[in-house]
Amino acid sequence: MIVECGHCGAPLDVREGRRYTRCGYCKKTSEQRMLRTIEPQTPPNWRPPAVWTPPAHVPANSAVPLRHAATAAVAPIIIAIVVFAIGGAVAVGAIASASRRKAPIFGPGAGGVARKEPAALAKVTLAESPEELQKLTGVPMDAHFSMRVPLAHPNWEAVTFRWDKDHLEHVKDFYFNATSSPSGEARKKLKALLDRRWGKDGFNWEGCGLYVSEKGDHVGSHVTIEQHGKEQKENPRWQKQVEAMWSLARYGVLGVGDKPSKQALRDHLGLGYALADLTKLDTEADIDKAEQAATSVYPGAIRNLSIDLEYKVALDHPYYGEMTIAWKNKKNAKVAEVELWPPPAADNKWSNQTAIDACVTAAFGKPSRVSEGDHLGGSRDTTWTPAAGGSIRVYHHLIVISLRDNPFSKPMPKDVFLKTVTALEQCGKTAG
Ligand SMILES: [Zn+2]
Repeated sequence: MIVECGHCGAPLDVREGRRYTRCGYCKKTSEQRMLRTIEPQTPPNWRPPAVWTPPAHVPANSAVPLRHAATAAVAPIIIAIVVFAIGGAVAVGAIASASRRKAPIFGPGAGGVARKEPAALAKVTLAESPEELQKLTGVPMDAHFSMRVPLAHPNWEAVTFRWDKDHLEHVKDFYFNATSSPSGEARKKLKALLDRRWGKDGFNWEGCGLYVSEKGDHVGSHVTIEQHGKEQKENPRWQKQVEAMWSLARYGVLGVGDKPSKQALRDHLGLGYALADLTKLDTEADIDKAEQAATSVYPGAIRNLSIDLEYKVALDHPYYGEMTIAWKNKKNAKVAEVELWPPPAADNKWSNQTAIDACVTAAFGKPSRVSEGDHLGGSRDTTWTPAAGGSIRVYHHLIVISLRDNPFSKPMPKDVFLKTVTALEQCGKTAG
């Protein structure tokens, strides 16, 4: 019989009457009687899908496709079968499909649904409800809030759209499955489009991200709707993030639609703004006007209230990848601190701390303090305290520009702040 793994939702071929079952995908062991039965009889020739994407209704992370432990090297045709397992149509669909694959490449999709020309998806924005999207794709949403659209494309078998059951007003995520002739093209194109935001296998930025498998045969998006932290609320940007990821993937994976603008990628997906724009920040802005101060310079700045009020900004710079602008959480507070962090691919440390130290030294002279810290780990940190006020501290993975509310220095005058930003901005861009 075939049951559904309670953690990742994968179809598991199990013998009836066994007490425990270990999932070959997520490795979780479950009591078998607790699992939902998909097929009481395992269909002949049934094989587990090589790659499984956890659907939205299970606890496992939908952004991370899982590989079956025993079938990692199985022929790619199995990957095409994976999609039939979703929704329980394991038996007939899989076998029928397997034989159909030998026919002309664009035969009908699952259940005889006509394959869509990728160009037909140009009008899809993902701001659609299930009914609206069905009008564009001809495919209804299934019981798991998913809509799988078979594609007439040599490298991509299907794209699946999914909704959150509490948010049927807008698609939550999507993923592409490759045909038996996957191509690495999509991964190359997406990597180029995402530039410095690209991490190891895709990107992540403040509640959203795109996973692109190493072989480039799976592309899937994810987004967080409910935000946690001190201000529990809905992620105000999730819909825009989904739409931006879709336009990115539609262009990068299917080659359909316009190339997404850098502006849209910056504002919604963390592509990265110029550090030089920080000179436009009103550092005298009161905490109650922090939102306006941060987003007027950086429209994609993400608010986060932890101890202090922070705005997180993605940067496009050879050395720095992210920035936090912080206000102390108290009445009349003005910008207290700016922090710079390494880019996603940098392994959480500066690629060239010595060069950064040299840039700050060129602007402010010898540091007031050098702490060797963990010598062998190379975790040196260096502090400059300009006579006029404020401080700049360069750690191995972080730079803190302290403007005020620092017990060890008087407030940093605006001209010192501008000089600091300019020195750091030029760093890594000019010789010497
Ligand atoms: Zn599992």
